Amino acid sequence: MTTVIRQDIDQDLVVWTMDHPTKSANTIDEVFLDDLEACIGRLQSDATLKGAVITSAKSLFLAGADLKDMERDMTAIRSKPVAEVFEAVFRFSRLLRELETCGKPVACAISGTAMGGGLEVALACHHRVVGDVPGLQLGLPEVQIGLLPAGGGTQRLARMLGIQAAMPWLLEGKAFDAKAALAAKVIDAVVPPDAALAEAKRWVREVGDCVKPWDKRDFRMPGGAGAADPRSATLFVASNAMVHAKTSDNLPAPRAILSCLYEGPLLPMDTALRVESKHMTHLLREGTAQGMVRTLFINKARCDKLHRRPTGVSKTDFTRIGVIGAGLMGAGIAQVAARAGLEVVLIDRDTAAAERGKAGIAQRLGGAVAKGRLDAAKAEQTLARILPTADYAALRDAQLVIEAVFEDRAIKAGVIAAVDAVLGKDAVLASNTSTLPITGLAELAKRPKDFIGLHFFSPVDRMPLVEVIRGRKTSDATLARALDLVARLRKTPIVVNDARGFFTSRFFGSFVSEGVTMVGEGIAPALIENAARMIGMPVGPLAVQDEVGIDLAVSITRQTMSDLGDSWRPGASFAVVERLSDGLGRHGRKSGGGFYDYPADGRKQLWPGLTDLWPPRTGQPTADEVGRRLLFIQLIEALKCMQEGVLEDAAEGDVGAVFGVGFPAHTGGPFSYIDRLGAEQVLNACVSLAKRHGERFRPPRLLRQMARDGRRFHAASAAVVGVSSSAS
Ligand code: NAD
Repeated sequence: MTTVIRQDIDQDLVVWTMDHPTKSANTIDEVFLDDLEACIGRLQSDATLKGAVITSAKSLFLAGADLKDMERDMTAIRSKPVAEVFEAVFRFSRLLRELETCGKPVACAISGTAMGGGLEVALACHHRVVGDVPGLQLGLPEVQIGLLPAGGGTQRLARMLGIQAAMPWLLEGKAFDAKAALAAKVIDAVVPPDAALAEAKRWVREVGDCVKPWDKRDFRMPGGAGAADPRSATLFVASNAMVHAKTSDNLPAPRAILSCLYEGPLLPMDTALRVESKHMTHLLREGTAQGMVRTLFINKARCDKLHRRPTGVSKTDFTRIGVIGAGLMGAGIAQVAARAGLEVVLIDRDTAAAERGKAGIAQRLGGAVAKGRLDAAKAEQTLARILPTADYAALRDAQLVIEAVFEDRAIKAGVIAAVDAVLGKDAVLASNTSTLPITGLAELAKRPKDFIGLHFFSPVDRMPLVEVIRGRKTSDATLARALDLVARLRKTPIVVNDARGFFTSRFFGSFVSEGVTMVGEGIAPALIENAARMIGMPVGPLAVQDEVGIDLAVSITRQTMSDLGDSWRPGASFAVVERLSDGLGRHGRKSGGGFYDYPADGRKQLWPGLTDLWPPRTGQPTADEVGRRLLFIQLIEALKCMQEGVLEDAAEGDVGAVFGVGFPAHTGGPFSYIDRLGAEQVLNACVSLAKRHGERFRPPRLLRQMARDGRRFHAASAAVVGVSSSAS
């Protein structure tokens, strides 16, 4: 039988060392809980033991549940009786409560990061000693994956710190270092790493207070609790409003946490813990968390591990790359590459333009230094790696060159030819184009097999995604090398096949166009923008169009018309952007006005002239209807990308949508969301939207097939090994 918690007797104490024999990290699973139960039983029954110390033999103190197991279990949970799920969820909490009330002191010696369930074990102990290990973090991040800390985390923190001080830990899921945790009184002592165990033992032997304040008669909630206490009543009014404003109530977890914080402190601890598990049971069954865990963690990690990298191609160790175009994107790419330790040749039309690009990088790095986010020496080293020039000969030793010049095929053709004239025969040539098909650009290069799309997102230093686009002739070796670069830049790649707009630009473009179309229909612009935020989009479609440039939307549409000829007709949004941009010179933020005005005080406002050009129609739609249009048009575009083979993998579509273009994380991405709603329900919604708003909502063939066959994009695993008790 596997043992994951070793028990070693040290005179009058027992030391419990968490040390999973086959895993690199200790996680909370059924075996762990069985061991914990056995440990507590022995401590209680062995009269020679005065107390216990928990520690870990791994570099991480204790991680929470294995997210892969948890995601799989969440499918099965939905078909199980609620009471059964509750009991499984509650087991972890019940054991920690037994530990807390066992009648003997238990301290923990933490010498590695303790997040989620790991910190909850520590919170249940009577004393927490942390070894001052660099980079060690403590936190309860469950809310970030749509869950709550159900091992008593909400109840113990509230009782230790007061409800208000517990909120940042629980509602934001922030991680804190040891110093901050000590200041917040979440832990009791910080000592040198090799002194933690001895200090924990000393405390058990010399102090050993094993009754928690909330188990004493005179306990009062710090800061008050309940509606009758004016301090907490005000707090809940404000925090409910804040959660609503931040999440538009799309995320059930923050509301559930607020409920735990409101209800729990009014109850005895044992009942409060059951309330917490009840809310957790609901979150596990409700569906939001499953999509979030799957996309934000499991599938993102798969992409980060380069699961699409062709095998049999040796890894490229990048030392030097070239970037053509020192504008917004080129300078951003040069910055992240230099930060990752690469030499970067940064080329623009003339040396002055290239130097301007580098000066912008210097300014951004300087800002990071001023805010204490970057070491001054590191900023200098980064800058020293960037060579601004107009001389293509400097690219001779570059292993990969990426062009980020104007979105104009003729200009790109000139640049590709100039790069080709000097580039080594093994080097990769990449384009950061957001719309031009890669296969067509590759034909302009000498070696189309060594050409690939690397679509970064703005701002490059903050956006985690890179969409890697395979042209028709792109070789496996080129794809592998491009992925090696993306990994070196610490970005998350998705791999898609070539088509106009690839996946992300097409997908996101459908949202923007639908919003603009509605302006043309006389729907109130403020309603459109607000409805977008209510479905969870970070920014409304009209504000986005202003940022991207209304003139750009016009020129991309014209380019598509000229490329595709008479067989292609632009959508209704084109007339709107054409009128604003060509007719009125309102090109967006950069021209001082577009759908919005941008006064000098920085408070943008929707341009009142919009309603003169497109008078508001009588009988405005509900925000719900507008939101459905904005959401479903994106689901349809995602389905078309899958149907046409632009996407090969639903997981990558989800990751790309959430991390690239801000599709609401609570959905888990378009494909997870379709699975959650069920293909048949999505089909019915599309049919009804098509009747009301036109053919573009007509359900794609793939959706019809999936509804008919009852299929899903993400496998619903049948193998269930029991419900993970801790979702932490
Ligand atoms: P930008 O206008 O900020 O920068 C373009 C740069 O290219 C300018 O510095 C310009 O001087 C330089 N340039 C133009 N012609 C050149 C030539 N012949 N030789 C050398 N340099 C030349 O544009 P941007 O926003 O950085 O976009 C660049 C590319 O990235 C485009 O293909 C665009 O579609 C793509 N892209 C843009 C975004 C975005 O959000 N802006 C996002 C993803 C991809």
